[in-house]
Amino acid sequence: MDFEPNEEQTMALDGWRRAVLRDVAPLAAPYMDSPFDREAAHELMRAMVPFGVGSGWVPEEGGGMGLDFLTSGLLFEELSRTSPDAAGLAWVAEGAALKVHSNGSEEIKARYLEKMVAGEVIGCSAISEPGIGSNVREMRTRAVRDGKYYRITGEKMWISNATIADVVLVVAKTDENEFSMFLVDREEHGFEAQEIQKLGISGWPMAQVQFNDVVVPEGNLLGEIGSGLRETMKGFDRSRCFVSTLALGIGRAALENAIEYSKQRSQFGKPIAGHQLVQAMLAEMASELAASQLLVYRALSMMAQGRRCELEASIAKSFTTEAVQRIASKAIQVHGAFGLTKEFPVERHFRNARMLSIPDGTTQINQLIIGRKLTGIDAFS
Ligand SMILES: Cc1cc2nc3c(=O)[nH]c(=O)nc-3n(C[C@H](O)[C@H](O)[C@H](O)COP(=O)(O)OP(=O)(O)OC[C@H]3O[C@@H](n4cnc5c(N)ncnc54)[C@H](O)[C@@H]3O)c2cc1C
Repeated sequence: MDFEPNEEQTMALDGWRRAVLRDVAPLAAPYMDSPFDREAAHELMRAMVPFGVGSGWVPEEGGGMGLDFLTSGLLFEELSRTSPDAAGLAWVAEGAALKVHSNGSEEIKARYLEKMVAGEVIGCSAISEPGIGSNVREMRTRAVRDGKYYRITGEKMWISNATIADVVLVVAKTDENEFSMFLVDREEHGFEAQEIQKLGISGWPMAQVQFNDVVVPEGNLLGEIGSGLRETMKGFDRSRCFVSTLALGIGRAALENAIEYSKQRSQFGKPIAGHQLVQAMLAEMASELAASQLLVYRALSMMAQGRRCELEASIAKSFTTEAVQRIASKAIQVHGAFGLTKEFPVERHFRNARMLSIPDGTTQINQLIIGRKLTGIDAFS
């Protein structure tokens, strides 16, 4: 057991920290209250991918960096401390690139992978629908075979990156209990995406996506027919860990802002940091953050060793994404009334923190997974 980043991780983090402040922050800053447009999103991706953020999980033989998940998680945490919006954009794009690498035919890979790894083609993954969220097996979107093509019809909801994405990896029913994944190209096959405005991480685009009899060649099937849901489920360990790294970054920013303010603001003749109950708030924030980090790093290092971590990822996700809300709320409390205003960043941290206990398995769904792992009894239905 070792709780410190190794030499290589420290070097990667140092370079990345400087790049985030120098290159990423200025590009992301204008989009904190409205979603990245296509140009800004692509520019951001091009700034991030040289550091392995946005495509680093793709192995070297696929043109990526083959970054291990723990190192990658540390980079995402660092990015989210400054821009959870850019972190969300990159994380979803990176997941799509990895799916294309793992499941795409040689033809699909030749056409898309190099561009995805370079940040020129941005992907997203569409599973949720207006009528289904936690229970993905109830999805209605269908892909019907028509000769050498599939015709896709249905509506997807809450799809991250969809307004700026070049390709959507959509999971659709190909038979009654059969779910398959297809690559749909915005230019070639067409899909419509309507932006959804949300509470926080507003630069990270989200949309409702319509597939109105969209025709794709059979070669755009990713993986075998019927493997779409299995592949999606396999990716949940990873996505739960990475959504947690976004929470870690927000939590760190909130704590840092609270410490700074507590040293500057004076009441009763001394900095409020000198009042014991203010220190108690900071201590609670720091403790919850440290616990969150340890849980996330544990799950990430299991993944880095190629081990499954369903239990550990669900514990990390459910704890961290709830803890960050308490941390961000206390950061506001430390700021008093100023914390509620747009003059200080903590109100934004609070809104951003609130976003993360829903995607990739709500807190309740992750608790059910933990319960099932502990007892062997399935309490889902
Ligand atoms: C920021 C963000 C990004 C997202 N990105 C994507 C994306 O890129 N692609 C995509 O496909 N989807 C995405 N989603 C959608 C996300 O996966 C769903 O929101 C999530 O699965 C929950 O579904 P739902 O919102 O429909 O809630 P529901 O499933 O309707 O749940 C509503 C409430 O009921 C609870 N609940 C449901 N079932 C049970 C049960 N059996 N026991 C106890 N409680 C239960 C839930 O915990 C929740 O509190 C995103 C969502 C967010 C917020």
